[in-house]
Amino acid sequence: MSRKIDIEQLCAEKGLRITEQRRVIARVLSEAEDHPDVEALHVRAAAIDPGISIATVYRTVRLFEEAGILDRHDFGDGRARYEAAPEHHHDHLINVETGQVIEFVDAELEALQKRIAEKLGFRLVDHRMELYGVALDRKD
Ligand SMILES: [Zn+2]
Repeated sequence: MSRKIDIEQLCAEKGLRITEQRRVIARVLSEAEDHPDVEALHVRAAAIDPGISIATVYRTVRLFEEAGILDRHDFGDGRARYEAAPEHHHDHLINVETGQVIEFVDAELEALQKRIAEKLGFRLVDHRMELYGVALDRKD
């Protein structure tokens, strides 16, 4: 589910000051097709601007996250991973052997979660669903 989200533009809309280094990090995040952690983001950003430190990447992703521009995930390995807050909701399936993250949307699942919330007296405003699995066709 590839989508190009313009983080720079979102920063402008949210009134975030965009420095040159933040711009590079925003571009790396916008172009990421995976769910990189801070170290992976740092490697990609530093390839464009070697002056970008890992501390800057940490600060910037925290800033973007607080502004609601980024979603932070923890896919069970204790590392925070980031993706541009998607325009359209999706859930994740994580291959526990390879760490591969697969995005999916399931209408039945969405409806079921809504019904569960309503049964408990709530209107659902958000949810997170992470499935963890091993590939069925793996060769042991
Ligand atoms: Zn995702």
